[in-house]
Amino acid sequence: MIVLALNCGSSSVKFRLSHVQPGAPEGEHERSLARGLLEGLPAGEAVLSLRVGERVEREKVVLRSYEGAVRHALDRVTDPALGLPAIAAVGHRVVHGGARFTRPTLIDPEVMAVLEELEALAPLHNAPSLAGIRATRMTLGLGTPMAAVFDTAFHASLPEHASHYAISSDLARRHGIRRFGFHGLSYQSVLASYCRMTGTPLERATLIVLHLGNGCSAAAIKDGRSVDTSMGFTPLEGLVMGTRSGDLDPALVGYLARKERASIETVEEWLNGQSGLLGLSGLTHDVRTLVARESDHPGARLALEVFCYRARKYVGAYLAALGGAQAMVFTGGIGENSPEIRARILEGMEWCGLRLDPVLNSRSGAEGRISPPDAALPTYVIPTDEELIIAQETALCVGKLKKTLRM
Ligand code: ADP
Repeated sequence: MIVLALNCGSSSVKFRLSHVQPGAPEGEHERSLARGLLEGLPAGEAVLSLRVGERVEREKVVLRSYEGAVRHALDRVTDPALGLPAIAAVGHRVVHGGARFTRPTLIDPEVMAVLEELEALAPLHNAPSLAGIRATRMTLGLGTPMAAVFDTAFHASLPEHASHYAISSDLARRHGIRRFGFHGLSYQSVLASYCRMTGTPLERATLIVLHLGNGCSAAAIKDGRSVDTSMGFTPLEGLVMGTRSGDLDPALVGYLARKERASIETVEEWLNGQSGLLGLSGLTHDVRTLVARESDHPGARLALEVFCYRARKYVGAYLAALGGAQAMVFTGGIGENSPEIRARILEGMEWCGLRLDPVLNSRSGAEGRISPPDAALPTYVIPTDEELIIAQETALCVGKLKKTLRM
C-alpha cells in the first residue's frame, strides 16, 4: 500500500511517501519513495527539502498557515513530473488522543468531531495535525482513507500508580485528568529497533529511553509496555526542554500570576515557550550553541547543567521503578547527535553499571551500542523514526477497513 505519513509539528511538517507491506519479512515492511521537510512554520518564508530517490531539491516557499504548508507538500508529492505512485492512504501523527483514542483510528466525521473537542484540551499540540487533516481532506477528497496515529497511545498501558496525580479523585474524574505521556511513536520506533538489533522479543524488552529533541521525555518500558513516562497531562511535565520548563512546583503558576499581574494563559505561555534551555541560558534553546558557548557564557553552562542533572534524576528514578533494566537508550535530535550531553547525563552512574566507551560514544547519529562490552547496563543510540510507525500503523488500520468492506 502506498502511504503518505504526515508529521505536523509546531514549526515543521515532515512527510514520507512509502510502499508499506504489513506482514512482509523483516526489513521489507517499508520502502521509502520520497521524504520531505518543511521548516519555518506556521507563517512566513519556509524552506522545503524534498528527497526522491537520490535527488534532493530545496525550495523557498512563502506560507500563511499550517493548512497552506500541508497543501504545498501534497502538491509536490502528487506532481506528475516526479513520477511517484498515487497515494492510497494518509497517516497523521496526532499528539494528544485523550482517554478516547488509545490505538490508531480511521478518521471519519465522528472521529474528527472528537479530535476537535480534544483540540480545546491541547491547543498548543493538536492544532497543527488537525490543520494537516483538514488540508489533506480538501486536497485528496473523501476517497483517500486517513488514519490518526496518537503519541499518547503507547502510554495507555501506564499502571494506575503512574497515571494518577495526587489530586482529588472527584476533580480528576470530572475533568478527565490523568498522566497521558507523549512521544509514544518515537518510543514504539526505538523499542522495535532495539528488539531487532539485539534479537530481544518485544514482550521481554525492559528499557529506559531518553527522547531528547526540542521536546524531551523519558520512558520506563517493562516487558515491551510503557510503565512510566515523564510527560503527563500535557507535554510540559518532566525533563527540561528547549523552551519548556518541565517539572516545577505547581504553586509557581499562581505565584507568578499574582506577582506579575499576568493571566494564567500568559504564565502558561512563559512555561511552554520562554523557559527550559532558552529561559535558563537567556541565549538559545539550541544545544549546539550552548555547548559552544559554555566556557564564556554562565547562562549556557547553567542551562546544560540543569538539563543533564534533571535527565540523570529520571534515569535513577526509572531504574527504581523498573527494578533494573536491560538497556538504556538515547534518541531524538540531542540524544542521537550529542556525545557530550550523553556523557554528562550518565556521569557518575557507574555504580549502577552505566558506563560509556568514549570512542563508541563519539560517533554521532549512528545506531549502535556506545558502552563497553562489559558494562553491566548497556547503552545504545537508536535514531527514532516516527514516520515509519505512522506509515505502518496506517497501512494496518486501512488494510483492516478494506478487508471489512470486501466481506
Ligand atoms: P523535534 O523534537 O522538534 O523533533 P529533534 O528531535 O529534531 O526535534 O531535535 C532538535 C534538537 O536537536 C535541536 O534543538 C538541537 O539543539 C538538537 N541537535 C541537533 N543536532 C545536534 C547536535 N549535533 N548536537 C547537539 N544537539 C543537536
